[in-house]
Amino acid sequence: MEKNIRAPIVTVLGHVDHGKTSLLDAIRKTNVATKEVGGITQSIGASKIELQKDSFTSAAGKGITFIDTPGHAAFSKMRGRGAEVADIAVLVVAADDGVKPQTKEALELIKEAKIPFIVAITKTDLPSKNIEGARGQLEKEGVLFEGRGGDTPVVSVSAKEEKGIKELLETIAVVAEVHEIKGDPGGDLEAVVIESSKDKRGTFANMVVRNGTLRIGNLIQAENVGCKIRAIFDSRGVSVKEVLPGEPAQILGFEEIPPVGAKVTNKGSLAGGGVKNEVQKVDKLSEGQIAVILKARSGGSLEALVASLPPNIVVIGGGVGDVNESDVLSAKASNAWIFAFESNVPAGVLKLAKMEGVHIERFEIIYELFQRLEELLKKGQVEVLGKAQVITSFPFNNKKIAGCKVTSGRIVKTDNLILARGEKEIGKVKAISMKKQKTEITEAKGGEEFGIIFEPQLDFEVGDVLISVRK
Ligand code: GDP
Repeated sequence: MEKNIRAPIVTVLGHVDHGKTSLLDAIRKTNVATKEVGGITQSIGASKIELQKDSFTSAAGKGITFIDTPGHAAFSKMRGRGAEVADIAVLVVAADDGVKPQTKEALELIKEAKIPFIVAITKTDLPSKNIEGARGQLEKEGVLFEGRGGDTPVVSVSAKEEKGIKELLETIAVVAEVHEIKGDPGGDLEAVVIESSKDKRGTFANMVVRNGTLRIGNLIQAENVGCKIRAIFDSRGVSVKEVLPGEPAQILGFEEIPPVGAKVTNKGSLAGGGVKNEVQKVDKLSEGQIAVILKARSGGSLEALVASLPPNIVVIGGGVGDVNESDVLSAKASNAWIFAFESNVPAGVLKLAKMEGVHIERFEIIYELFQRLEELLKKGQVEVLGKAQVITSFPFNNKKIAGCKVTSGRIVKTDNLILARGEKEIGKVKAISMKKQKTEITEAKGGEEFGIIFEPQLDFEVGDVLISVRK
């Protein structure tokens, strides 16, 4: 076997719903090594698979490392970096759908990264398949297939029926062999961060090693974030002592969360830097904009989210980690929504948010988060911050005081209020005085009673509701 041949690092790209995830799942399912260890127990953003023993390529003994690139366009930033990290790309095109916008985007990324690629026509079990049609469309995009004047291989697969998987793996191995993908275990460290995060154990980064070896105790750095390696986990979540070229690994011991896509070297300076835990703050909102605080579980997701937000969404705060009390308080101060992507919302924080009338929404699927943002923008962002019911009324000078009780959220003196009777809006009002007993107050919370004089002096009745709305 050729010296220093290592496992190729492969990324799967293509249009949403064209079957990338299913294909990766099918690959893992048909993979002997994975079966032997009882399946992948933990995602570290990449997984190594072994080739069948009867493989005829020299790369056979080395396996293939797949980067688990997520499918939505929101991740194009990470995906783009995925292409840079990878030695080979698999471009997925659904046999029933052909070339779509993200297929073209993926082709661009591949071109920029200057890496070889293989076309996998997926869903070939569908009666509506049109393999030749898909190939023709790709040729129109400039893809030169093997046997048709170029060297791009094409493989037909069905993740559903687990067909063509072995052929695809063999094809990847052949391409790896032709391109002589090498890594020297004794050479300078060259690895790339594909995910970074923080949990109870500390700050860690998932990476793939292209050259050199990572060992416990090594001093490494991802761009300018230092790390003394405290622990290493492989793609099965098993603790290991070292990582060789072509392997993915999870490294524990970073001083700060290193940025996704960062190059990792073994120069070992412990300077600061990295993804800030706070997103840049913005002071003023213009008409039609919505302020949000974004929390995500990892630096990679946060970067991807921020990079793909609709134009009228203004991020005023957030960062990596669980939603906390200070997020709720800053959301309240700036009338912002809190969006948590894969981050947790502890019960105490949720309770505080309810009390303060702050909305927290949690998402596991990035696409759904964006849908929700679009929906809010369309709705013109009128959102209810609190409600109070008029329970009594009494005269004061020549005005009328409404005695109210907060039934949800909170009422703040400076809020925009709507006086409503049943479903009907009576009018818009502003508080000119809010009192609890004899004391002037600026805010009333859930369950509290207060007296309010508002302007204009609309003719309210007991049973009417004051609704505080975010404008
Ligand atoms: P991704 O967005 O590219 O990761 O696509 P998914 O892997 O999530 O697949 C999108 C949809 O296509 C899902 O409903 C899958 O069940 C379906 N799908 C994926 N691969 C196949 C296949 O080989 N055959 C059929 N019939 N359906 C498939």
